[in-house]
Amino acid sequence: MSTVDLTLDEISALIIRVMLANGCDDENASALADIMTRAERDGSHSHGLFRVPGYVKALRSGKVNGKAKPTVTKITPAVIQVDGHGCFAPIAQAAGLPVLAEAAKEIGIGALSLIGVHHFASLWPETEYLADRGLVGIACTAYMPAVAPAGSTTALFGTNPISFAWPRPGSTPVVYDMATASMAMGDIQIAARDGRTVPAGTGLDQDGNPTTDPAKIAKGVLLPFGGYKGSAISMMVELLAAGLTGEQFSFEAKENDNGDGGPARGGEMILAMSPDIIAGPDWPEHVEGFVAKLNEMDGVRLPGARRHKNRLDTGARAVNAALLETIEGLVT
Ligand code: NDP
Repeated sequence: MSTVDLTLDEISALIIRVMLANGCDDENASALADIMTRAERDGSHSHGLFRVPGYVKALRSGKVNGKAKPTVTKITPAVIQVDGHGCFAPIAQAAGLPVLAEAAKEIGIGALSLIGVHHFASLWPETEYLADRGLVGIACTAYMPAVAPAGSTTALFGTNPISFAWPRPGSTPVVYDMATASMAMGDIQIAARDGRTVPAGTGLDQDGNPTTDPAKIAKGVLLPFGGYKGSAISMMVELLAAGLTGEQFSFEAKENDNGDGGPARGGEMILAMSPDIIAGPDWPEHVEGFVAKLNEMDGVRLPGARRHKNRLDTGARAVNAALLETIEGLVT
């Protein structure tokens, strides 16, 4: 695979240039560039530059408003709602997360419901934001139907990611961020592009037959991770991200989407809890004992550790040359 080295500043500047050229205002373009550049920095390749063409499709079709100004409402002191008015999710998160963190620090717990947003990114930026402020964070969002509930060969669930972050004073948080599908759709698309096979059990072809060919799965259906157990967690994500926010379930998102290839409108639910208030001041020492035991076990690594290690590298990133050419072609 041919690559081109770009610094993180060059990656950010390129994204801003593309987004401004396609109808974003400065605030929306910067929020998108921030999220995608952090994904490239951490080696979350399926949610960095790879997503730029999809974002641009949604702007060009008019599905997403690149100049939207999200509004924040405190429904109760602990329940916050941000209406993105058709924006990409990052600028709505930037508006709501500080309000959520403040509420959880004061009350002990808080819920942030995002509606009217188009989510196409990783979720760890949301949960790490909370953990960096001493809070436990949980976030989930639903997406277009791509995953068959256990027992079926028909898609109903989105790839429905969920992220959890636990704060570690003086250190990076413990954080996982995972699709509840056996594999994220972005990774299926990248595997298909790179001509790689995927593990058995990842998905089914158009006729409902098991296959390891990612191109066939992209036209067929993904399976949930962990059989019926992962299927139940994916169902929970639908209920939290759509039932609890009042936004669209994955199947509704598909029915109402214009099919432009960009992210459909949906909801996101973000929860924050304060261990200072709930567990009391001794929690860091107590928890560090547990984390140390986990870390010392042979073959075990903390989730999030791969990204946090990549983050330490401030050098250039190798960007797929064909992708870069496509993105540069979007600056019209
Ligand atoms: P992965 O399967 O790559 O990783 C899932 C989690 O497991 C990560 O936190 C990862 O940490 C951790 N992990 C991986 N390997 C190990 C290991 N050996 N030991 C311990 N922990 C490990 O992620 P997915 O492919 O499921 O998801 C990729 C991204 O796609 C996520 O960021 C998700 O939010 C996003 N997504 C977004 C959607 C949307 O609609 N917005 C839809 C679906 C997915 P680490 O990162 O450090 O490797």
